Amino acid sequence: MRAGKSGENLNPHESETPKPFRFEFCKECGTCFSLCPVLSFPIEKAQGEIRKVKFGGSSPVLSKCTGCMDCDFFCPEGANPAELILSRWRNINLERNPLIRANYFLPHSRPNFRSYVIERMGKRERKIIESWKDMSPSKHICYPGCNMIATPLLTQTKVLEKLDIRGSLDVCCGEMYWRMGLFDDVRTCAEKTTKFFQTLKAEKVTILCTAGYYMFTEVLPHFGGGYPFEIESYLEFLDREISASEIEFQRTLPMKVTIQESCYGKQFGHEYMDIPRKILKSAGCQIVEMENSGEKMLCCGIGAGFSPASAYDPIRMTLAAMRVLRQARKTGADALVVYCSGCLQMLSTARILLPQSPPIYHILEIIELATGGNPEKSSRKSGFTMLSGVVRNQFPLLLSRKRLPV
Ligand code: SF4
Ligand code: SF4
Repeated sequence: MRAGKSGENLNPHESETPKPFRFEFCKECGTCFSLCPVLSFPIEKAQGEIRKVKFGGSSPVLSKCTGCMDCDFFCPEGANPAELILSRWRNINLERNPLIRANYFLPHSRPNFRSYVIERMGKRERKIIESWKDMSPSKHICYPGCNMIATPLLTQTKVLEKLDIRGSLDVCCGEMYWRMGLFDDVRTCAEKTTKFFQTLKAEKVTILCTAGYYMFTEVLPHFGGGYPFEIESYLEFLDREISASEIEFQRTLPMKVTIQESCYGKQFGHEYMDIPRKILKSAGCQIVEMENSGEKMLCCGIGAGFSPASAYDPIRMTLAAMRVLRQARKTGADALVVYCSGCLQMLSTARILLPQSPPIYHILEIIELATGGNPEKSSRKSGFTMLSGVVRNQFPLLLSRKRLPV
């Protein structure tokens, strides 16, 4: 749990990132791009590429990087190389706007990959989402995040009954803009979400998404966002409820599971990444780790869309997600468990192409099962809808060199 921050206490121009690249710390050793699970460059090539990226040259790093942020953990000097890449992406996007195909994935454009899914939801799911738009004051609210809004049935579990969920696609935390380096849009998100929480008179906020937790506690305050209240992740909420016996497991799940780390779980360190493991173990699951786990985790696939060269190229994203699914399959696990509903959607979509990989569960579904419930598995249907939206709306733009208007 973290105290929220007020943007007024920070100079937004001083640093637009919580972990800026420390140019003078970098010894050009190449460890970052050599250990990178995507690039895996031989050390001499890695040393050459870091020099190019540092001094503004062109490098395959800038198109192949999936923004997983693992290299920040590999760097022995604490130089934050992932932020160097982010700042280069930002400069490229400032010079030339992103390719037009990116539009279908940008949170504020319509239709986008989530609004397409929402428009095709059943009555019940739409009713749930509508109820979250209530703007009457509430002291303790639960912010769902855009990914959860696209998978609302996940919240229909008794373990979240206490939470007063509020939000809509219009009050996005801006995580996707942040990962692309589109900082003006991040500033807009900081402004909108600040007003949103002020209107609700929130004194405590539980966030159903680790990415949102990071955005509100670490990123948006640098962009003028003010969140002067207690903020916690839903994993911390669940852990506390389980410890206090407010959530009681009724059955043991003798499943072998592997875990997809959220890119932001890493940012909060091992104490945070241990929470889903602890919950799964107490539900009776046996955990087997993938070849890349914890700080070495591969991104679920969405990150392969962030670079200006990719601009949400669906083929790159699907190939990246399939790499994770193959690793999950190698573990022999009965299920791949995620704790980010964005990972759930990306991996469920890719699993359509690799049906032999383990079934994918959100951790809320596992808890629902262990407490005697029966989760409504809807991620496969949502994956199909998402895929059909991409094929219909984004594929026709794949070869276009047009760029988004200024
Ligand atoms: S960013 Fe770190 S790991 Fe990468 S070259 Fe510089 S010092 Fe080495
Ligand atoms: S952010 Fe991830 S993919 Fe990109 S260079 Fe670093 S480790 Fe590699």
